[in-house]
Amino acid sequence: MHYIDPHIHMISRTTDDYHRMAQSQCVAISEPAFWAGFDRGSAIAFHDYFRQLTEYEPKRAQQYFIQHYCWLCINAKEAENVSLSREVISLIPEFLNRPNVLGIGEIGLNKNTKNEAIIFQEHVDLAMKTNELILIHTPHLEDKYKGTRMIIDMLQGDKRIQPSRVCIDHVEEHTVRLAIDNGFWCGMTLYPTTKCTPARAADIIEMVGTEKIMVNSAGDWGKSDPLAVPEFIMEMKRRGRTEEEIKKVVYDNPILFWQQSRHWNKDNLKI
Ligand SMILES: [Zn+2]
Repeated sequence: MHYIDPHIHMISRTTDDYHRMAQSQCVAISEPAFWAGFDRGSAIAFHDYFRQLTEYEPKRAQQYFIQHYCWLCINAKEAENVSLSREVISLIPEFLNRPNVLGIGEIGLNKNTKNEAIIFQEHVDLAMKTNELILIHTPHLEDKYKGTRMIIDMLQGDKRIQPSRVCIDHVEEHTVRLAIDNGFWCGMTLYPTTKCTPARAADIIEMVGTEKIMVNSAGDWGKSDPLAVPEFIMEMKRRGRTEEEIKKVVYDNPILFWQQSRHWNKDNLKI
């Protein structure tokens, strides 16, 4: 089954991973701007990272017929430094017209601090002024429920926000309803043993259905599996779910969300 991985950090993966993803029928990915495995010391380092996301990675993915999209921001993990964050935010507009950029992300909270909240809102303001989609990171480390609640309160406090243009990622059993019931898209990030496993994600689908929900692998610097979405497909098949239901979650839904971006181009899909 063709699938899309809507949240994978290819900066931390080798070209062999692209090869294996293509063999598993991955046809498109999106890579949110995130931590680089180390804290960057200057805004110039982010400028180079944005070039990597918009120039180098699309070419690396294309060798394996995978369409590469991305999201731009300074991530919550490095957003504690407000002056650096503001410098980085000021660099983003020059990249927003690059053809693989879907919007602003992954922005959000990491330790639910005041500085993280300030920088989150400044990113949201940029997205509203430039009419971009938003991808949200919810905390793994500290209180996920509290962080998700804080994020949704900030979004609902901004009357310019249309929830259907925002995806709240890394939802789990106790936060999925906060996202869906308030009209947002949501993503479940699958990890091999910790956090949300493919089996837990299949349980959550049984609870909430297949509307406005997608799954992704993260493929980040921690222990993660770039083939987690195919694992989820197998888990759903084991449970007797239909092709149509599975395809909705792993293919149709990411496209329904992304097609709101002016840069989504279905003609580029190699299927
Ligand atoms: Zn991420």
